[in-house]
Amino acid sequence: MSNVTPMMAQYLEIKAQYPDALLFYRMGDFYEMFFDDAVAASEALDIALTKRGKHDGDDIPMCGVPVHAAEGYLLTLIRKGFRVAVGEQLESPEEAKKRGYKAVVKRDVVRLVTPGTLTEDTLLEARRHNFLCALGNVRDEWALAWTDISTGAFHVMPLGQARIGAELARLAPSEVLVSEKVDETLRDVLGDLGIEATVLGAASFDSGAAEQRLCSTFAVQTLAGFGSFSRAELSGMGALVDYLDITQKGQLPLLQTPRQEAGARLMQIDAATRRNLELTSAMSGGRSGSLLAAIDRTVTSGGARLLERRVSSPSRDLAVIEERLDAVRWGVEGSFSDALRELLRRVPDVERALSRLGLDRGGPRDLTAVRSALTQAQTICERLDGVELPALLRRSRDALSGHDALLEVLDAALIVEPPLRVSDGGFVAQGYDEALDQARTLRDEGRGVIARMQGEYAEETGISSLKIKHNNVLGYFIEVTATHADKMHARSDRFIHRQTTANQVRFTTTELSELETRILNAGAEAAAIEKRLYDTLRHEILDRAGVLAEVAFALAEIDLALGLAELARQRDWCLPKVDDSRAFDIEAGRHPVVEAALQKAGEPFIANDCALSAEGDAASVRLLTGPNMAGKSTYLRQNALIALLAQIGSYVPARSAHIGVVSQIFSRVGASDDLARGRSTFMVEMVETAAILNQADDRALVILDEIGRGTATYDGLSIAWATLEHLHEVNRVRGLFATHYHELTVLAGKLPGVKNATVAVKEWDGDVIFLHEVHDGAADRSYGVQVAQLAGLPKAVITRARDVLEALEKGERERASPKALIDDLPLFSAAAKTPAPAVSRETPSAVEEKLAAITPDEMSPREALQMLYDLKALM
Ligand code: ADP
Repeated sequence: MSNVTPMMAQYLEIKAQYPDALLFYRMGDFYEMFFDDAVAASEALDIALTKRGKHDGDDIPMCGVPVHAAEGYLLTLIRKGFRVAVGEQLESPEEAKKRGYKAVVKRDVVRLVTPGTLTEDTLLEARRHNFLCALGNVRDEWALAWTDISTGAFHVMPLGQARIGAELARLAPSEVLVSEKVDETLRDVLGDLGIEATVLGAASFDSGAAEQRLCSTFAVQTLAGFGSFSRAELSGMGALVDYLDITQKGQLPLLQTPRQEAGARLMQIDAATRRNLELTSAMSGGRSGSLLAAIDRTVTSGGARLLERRVSSPSRDLAVIEERLDAVRWGVEGSFSDALRELLRRVPDVERALSRLGLDRGGPRDLTAVRSALTQAQTICERLDGVELPALLRRSRDALSGHDALLEVLDAALIVEPPLRVSDGGFVAQGYDEALDQARTLRDEGRGVIARMQGEYAEETGISSLKIKHNNVLGYFIEVTATHADKMHARSDRFIHRQTTANQVRFTTTELSELETRILNAGAEAAAIEKRLYDTLRHEILDRAGVLAEVAFALAEIDLALGLAELARQRDWCLPKVDDSRAFDIEAGRHPVVEAALQKAGEPFIANDCALSAEGDAASVRLLTGPNMAGKSTYLRQNALIALLAQIGSYVPARSAHIGVVSQIFSRVGASDDLARGRSTFMVEMVETAAILNQADDRALVILDEIGRGTATYDGLSIAWATLEHLHEVNRVRGLFATHYHELTVLAGKLPGVKNATVAVKEWDGDVIFLHEVHDGAADRSYGVQVAQLAGLPKAVITRARDVLEALEKGERERASPKALIDDLPLFSAAAKTPAPAVSRETPSAVEEKLAAITPDEMSPREALQMLYDLKALM
C-alpha cells in the first residue's frame, strides 16, 4: 500500500470491514463512493461516474451524492437490494490538523442501513410495518423472532419447521436473518416468498450468548419476567439484538420487552392463501386492490399498521374476537365516533417518533409529536370520561391518562411548530429556560443591551455624551470626549483605559468585555443550551417510553375500532355472530373488494347466501359448478373473507352471518400462470394441495378453485375427486369447491356432507347472461363456447367449437369413444391454408351478407365509413 494516499488507505481499511455493503464515505458535503461501489451505485442511482486519483496505476472510479439529499438516494439503493454503510467524519478538519499537518480526518461507519433497520419517515411507509425477522434454530426446534425498530415492537414465537413459510408470509418482513448453518430447503422457502435472507455467523445465533445479550439489553438479571423461552426462541431473539448492535453501531433502538406470541391463538393462513385472497397486497403487487386497502378507514398511521397486523393475523380466540367486535359495535351504535375521529386525525406517528428519539436520530419535531399525541390523548380521555365503554375501549381510555406531568413540561418547553433539526435551533419556547433566554437576548438584541449599558454608564459617570462604540480593532469600547477624560481616569478601578485619540479617550470595563464575549458567543451558547435542553427532554420521554408506547397502542386501538365502525356504517355491513360451534351460515354475503369496485362502476353486486354449517364433527362441502365468468371464484373468496373479517373483529359484508370460529383458512386456485416460479404450475398446485390435505383440521375452512385443471382431463378429474373425498372423510372440513368437472357432482349423492350448488346463467339468443346467483343443484352445462365468444374468439373458431361440442355430446349420449368421435368429425373448414375470412363457402358469413346488400353508388362517404365500422364490428 506504499503508493496509496493516507485518505485512500483509510477508505480501504473501512471498506474491508463492510464487503457486502456500499460504503458512503463522507467528504465534506458529499458521501463519496469508490471502486466497484461507485460503479454499482452510479448505475443504480443513474448518476455520473467520474474518477479520482489512481490506485495501483489505474484510475479510481468515483461517484458521490450530496449529504442533504442522501435520504432519497438511500431509499433507491435499499429498494434495489443494496445495503449501505454510512461512514461519517468523526472530527472536523480543524481538529484533524491539530494532530498533524497531513492527518486524515477520523472517520468510521456510524450505521449500516439495511431494509429491515430503517427508521426515517421518508424511507418507510407510514401505514405499513417494517419487520426484521430472525429464524432461531437449536437442534430440531425452531422459532421466529421479529421486531419493527421503527416502532419498537419485539416478538417471538416457537414454530414447527413446516410453518416457517406461512409465518413469514404473515409478517411479510423486509429482511430475514438466518444462520450460516441453515440448509438449502429453508433458503428455498425464503426464495419462494421473495425474501432476501441476510446470513449471519453461527455465533450470532448462539442461545447461551443470546440470553446474556438480552438480559443486558433489557437491563434485567433474568428473562423469566418476560416469559419462559425455548433455546430456539432465545437464539432468534439473540440474533436480532446482535444484528441491531452491528447495524446501529451500538446505539440500540428502543425495544419493547419481548412478547411471546402463541401461534395457537391465531387463525392460520399460509402464504399461498394470503396471496390468493389478496389480504394485504393484490396479485398485481401493490396495496391497492387488496382487502386491507378496501377496509382501511383508520385516520392514524398507528391505526393503519394495527389493521395490517390484524388482517395478517386474525384471532381464533373467541374472547378476543368478541371483545374487538364489542368495541366496533360501540362505534357503530354510539354517537361519539365522528368527534373522536376528528381528534384522532391530529395524532402524529408517536411510535416512530419514539423510535427515532431512542436511536438519537430524532429532532425537535419528534418531541412535539409526543406532545401532540399526549394532548390528543388527554382530550380523547376527557371526552370519554364517564361514558359507558366496552372493555377494550375502557382499557384503551385508561392508558391515555396519567401523562400530565410530561405533557406540561413539553408544552412549556417547546414552540408550536419547531424546525426539523436540533441544529436549526429556536425550538425551545421563550420563558422556559432563563439562561437560554439571556443568550438569545444577547444574540438578537446585542445592540439593545449595549444601548442600555451606555445609558447606565452615562448616568453613573454623569457624562451624558458617553458612548459605547464598536470597531474591528478594539471591539466594543466606551468613548468620551477628551474633556471628560479625567472623570474617567479618576475611576480607573472600573474604567480601564484602552486608547487616546486626538479628541476622544476610550475605555472598557470588565463588564463590557464580558458582555462582548458573551454577545459573540451568545449564538453558540443558545445553540448549546438548546441542545442540552433537547437531550433532557428526550431523556424524560425515553424514561417513559414504555407507557408512551401504551398510549400509542391505545390510540391505534381506538382508531381501528372506530375505523371499522365507520366502514360498517358506510357499506351497511352486519355484526357477525361468532361462537365455537361449526356453523357457517351467511345470508346475502358480498365480496368486500369486488363490491366496492363494481360500485364505483355503478354496477350492482349480487349478494349470495352460503349455508355451510357442519353437523357434529362431519364435513360440510359445497361443490360449485357453473360457467367461467359466472362468479364462482368471487363467491368462494367472499366467504373466506367474511370469516376472516369476523375474526379480526370486524363487521362483515352480509345481511347476517353466523360463524363457528375458523382455525385455518386454506385457499387454492387451479394452476394459473402468475405463480410460475421454476416449478411447473401443476406441480405448484399439487404441492399446495398436499399441504392442505396434510394440515387441515375439522375447524378449517377450505376454498378450492378448479383444482386439477393443470393436467389432462382424466388425471385432473381423478385428483379432484380423491381430494374432495379426503377433505370430506379425513379432514372433515367446511369447504367450498369450485370445479368445471361436472362428473364430480355425483359425489353429492355418495358423500353425506357434500351438496351441489351452481351459479345461475340465462341463455338468450345463443348468448349467456351472467346472473351471479348461487343456487342449489348442479350446472347443466358449462357454456364455455359462449364465454369464448364473449372474449372475442373469431367467429369461425366459435362455429367450429359448437360443432365439435355437439358431436362430443351426442357421442356421450350414444356412449361412443371420444377418439372415434373425433375421427368422425368433418375437417375444420378453415384449416391451415385458407386465409381469413375462415368461413365455409356454403353459408355466407354475416359480413358477406351485409356486403352483398349494399349499393356503393348510393352511399355517401359518411355512410360508407359507418358501414366499414359496422362490418368491422361483425368480425
Ligand atoms: P368465475 O370464477 O366463475 O370464472 P369470477 O368469480 O372470476 O368468475 O367472476 C367473474 C366476474 O363476474 C367478476 O370479475 C365480477 O366482476 C363479476 N361478478 C362475480 N360475482 C358477482 C356478483 N355476485 N355480483 C356481480 N358481479 C359479479
